[in-house]
Amino acid sequence: MSLTISAERASRIAAVRFDYGAQTRQAIAACNLCGGSRFVVLTHRDRYGYDAEAHACAACGLVFLNPRMTADAYGRFYRGVYRPLVSAFHGRRIDAHTIQAEQRDYAVERAAFIGPFLTGGGLQTMLDIGGSTGVVAHHFAREFGLQGTVIDPAPLEVEEARRFGLDTITGLVEEHDFGARQFDVVIICQTIDHLLDVGGVLARVRALLPARGLLFLDIVDFRAAYLRQWSVEDAVKIDHPFYLTDSTMVAYLRRAGFDVLRADIARDRLHVSYVCRPAESTRATKAPPMIAARTVSPPPRRTRSRPAGPPTSSRSARSSRSASRTWAWSGASRTWPPGSAWSRRSRAVHKA
Ligand SMILES: [Zn+2]
Repeated sequence: MSLTISAERASRIAAVRFDYGAQTRQAIAACNLCGGSRFVVLTHRDRYGYDAEAHACAACGLVFLNPRMTADAYGRFYRGVYRPLVSAFHGRRIDAHTIQAEQRDYAVERAAFIGPFLTGGGLQTMLDIGGSTGVVAHHFAREFGLQGTVIDPAPLEVEEARRFGLDTITGLVEEHDFGARQFDVVIICQTIDHLLDVGGVLARVRALLPARGLLFLDIVDFRAAYLRQWSVEDAVKIDHPFYLTDSTMVAYLRRAGFDVLRADIARDRLHVSYVCRPAESTRATKAPPMIAARTVSPPPRRTRSRPAGPPTSSRSARSSRSASRTWAWSGASRTWPPGSAWSRRSRAVHKA
């Protein structure tokens, strides 16, 4: 267990009795975004103290867990472990009931952002991927006159969604067969980093949307996340197979055949939201597009992100130095491919 995790938190996590090492995992051989196969190891453990490695693709900069749990293992994780584990981490109860107030605030705030795109377009149906308890889908459905469907792997949360009168599907979007069904609006709220195949899901969403359809999604900006705690380890968690940045998210969207209509950095400086529509040319590009000139998210200020006080252990001191190196290189990632930043990190790590 890492020295950066307090004894109290560590004992709460231990009490969840989740044996991560015993879960079935699979190695990722090809980058989900660009297909590259040269990776840089960024960390060997996550914020809970589990032995989880996060890798960055040396070609495009995408960060992901490797190896990661299989779809079956994640299915079991969401059925009984995920909320208790997050509760143990934060030291307060977080479940299908307690999260609803937070989700309501989120729904109201994001409805204001997406509203101008949803009104007056004759849009009627909506799919909420990873829709949890349905609070967000319910609010959007009521606000914009949409017929909402929620798909989520957690049965207890889907049960809550059903009580809102939403259509529900218990399962993973990667596995569910939608047949020829289409939806006018697809929303992926605080979910994309939980998916097992971001590229596959976006391609599927593209097929689920008619030409006039809209896609809303948001990400946890990985760069903002690791600078927040000044530690890559603390920004990595087994519940997130993927760690996106504005660069990698926009590359994903363009590759899947979407145009970004509007991007927005949340007040917390951690989440970035996107409203997208199918690109005029429905043919998805085969290679990651050039995105050098585009940056929505300015790097968080070091003075604001660094926690107060000196590091309390040699381990956290190492984390600080490690984050500091990455910070120094983050400027390099503004040019495509952003992977050059990770390549530099790789060399430095081998030297260290
Ligand atoms: Zn890649």
